[in-house]
Amino acid sequence: MQVLSVTPEIFPLIKTGGLADVTGALPIALASKGVAMRTLIPGYPVVMDAFKKKKAVYQYPLLQGGKASVHAVKIGELELFVLDAPHLFDRQGGPYGTASGSDWPDNWRRFAALSQVGGDIAGGAISGYQPDIVHAHDWQSAMTLAYMRYGNAIGVPSLITVHNLAFQGQFGSGIFGELGLPGVAMQLDGVEYYGGVGFLKAGLQAAWAITTVSPTYAQEIRSPEFGMGLDGLINMRAVDLYGIVNGIDVDIWNPATDKHLVANYSAETLEARALNRKAVEDRFSLEPDDSPIVCVVSRVTWQKGMDILAAVVDGIVQRGARLAVLGSGDAGLEGSLLAAAARHRGRVGVVIGYDEALSHIMQGGCDAIVIPSRFEPCGLTQLYGLRYGCVPVVARTGGLADTIIDANEAALSAGVATGFQFAPNNGGALLHAIRRLVEAHARPAAWASIQRQGMKADVSWDKSADKYVELYRLLLSKRTA
Ligand code: ADP
Repeated sequence: MQVLSVTPEIFPLIKTGGLADVTGALPIALASKGVAMRTLIPGYPVVMDAFKKKKAVYQYPLLQGGKASVHAVKIGELELFVLDAPHLFDRQGGPYGTASGSDWPDNWRRFAALSQVGGDIAGGAISGYQPDIVHAHDWQSAMTLAYMRYGNAIGVPSLITVHNLAFQGQFGSGIFGELGLPGVAMQLDGVEYYGGVGFLKAGLQAAWAITTVSPTYAQEIRSPEFGMGLDGLINMRAVDLYGIVNGIDVDIWNPATDKHLVANYSAETLEARALNRKAVEDRFSLEPDDSPIVCVVSRVTWQKGMDILAAVVDGIVQRGARLAVLGSGDAGLEGSLLAAAARHRGRVGVVIGYDEALSHIMQGGCDAIVIPSRFEPCGLTQLYGLRYGCVPVVARTGGLADTIIDANEAALSAGVATGFQFAPNNGGALLHAIRRLVEAHARPAAWASIQRQGMKADVSWDKSADKYVELYRLLLSKRTA
């Protein structure tokens, strides 16, 4: 089975969040299951620099304002189509904006181009390659499904995975004329959305199936509270909606072999975590003692509940935990966290920035990771936490609710607890969870049992990849029906 994945990010080449982890890991997990996944990605500078032999398999004399070409390359284990369109992608900064964080004003053009190419490949543009299924991700590639629908690939089964419904790619109606779609597409059941053009909306409308990255989030987005204006459409499409929880790359995230760690360890050698813990204490200027270190590795945003966290830092310290925060995002929230660290020198440390290596050391050395997200489609850091014996403390929402078993008395005595959940998501409930954590941490046998139980959890891609294969098969059966 040939599946074309279309995505704006793929680990390890270009990553701003969990989407890249998923699109990078899924092809590898599918390969052993008879599914060949090829991925179309934009030719950002880091991507173009990652391969030497440049031979185009398809050329565009004019694609959204300039010349473009598609290259078929293998980078590491990933089979890729790279869209080389210098006028759109050869820029310094991030994939969506400048280094200082403002979005590129022509993002609609950049990701319409990516999607148009996805639609062309689906329609057989590249000789010798015809995907059986097209799999798009988030708003940046969602329009692929519209280009397929209004072009010549309407018969190719498609699905879109929603990694985060908050990002919708909503633009003014003025761009419609430049998308190269027929006039009929600018309709309520097409790309039109509140008078403008909705990229994600168009994909949700055109996809044969919609998936999101956990069963609970799949249910939540049908409600006005989590549906972000799209709940009506999502409810209309409810029979085609699936929730498949993400896995993680258990080779990259393996405490026994992880090169970023100061000391490697397994469930049998948890005491070796002390050396990583020491590294965390040094890096975050924390006083060394026996109290638990609770960490955060996160975008610093409202979605991630970083305001809720910032408001209770004093309470966390009072309850006897230390806190290490790695993250970047909203400048105001970063400021609140830095101020809290200044108030509690030696008890709270904050590093503003994005640091993959440090994130590994934190999972390998901290006692717990706290994730107070207001909504969380899946979440990955709690899965890393499970694998690393860094006990997750999570808001009971989305994928966090699906992947962590709360350490209540019943779960503890049954030996199945893997972390702490709290609800509703507010400062009081978070502090209550921290108190339970501190108490559990003071009972070393109980604590080690929670750690070990988490480390036993299957967080690999294996089962989830099976679910995608099952869905691909179902879609293929609809094609022939
Ligand atoms: P989201 O994609 O919504 O940001 P996820 O939990 O799905 O949240 O994925 C976040 C990913 O980004 C994880 O791999 C996490 O380790 C990583 N990450 C987030 N912030 C940082 C940071 N400041 N430094 C290093 N890694 C980070």
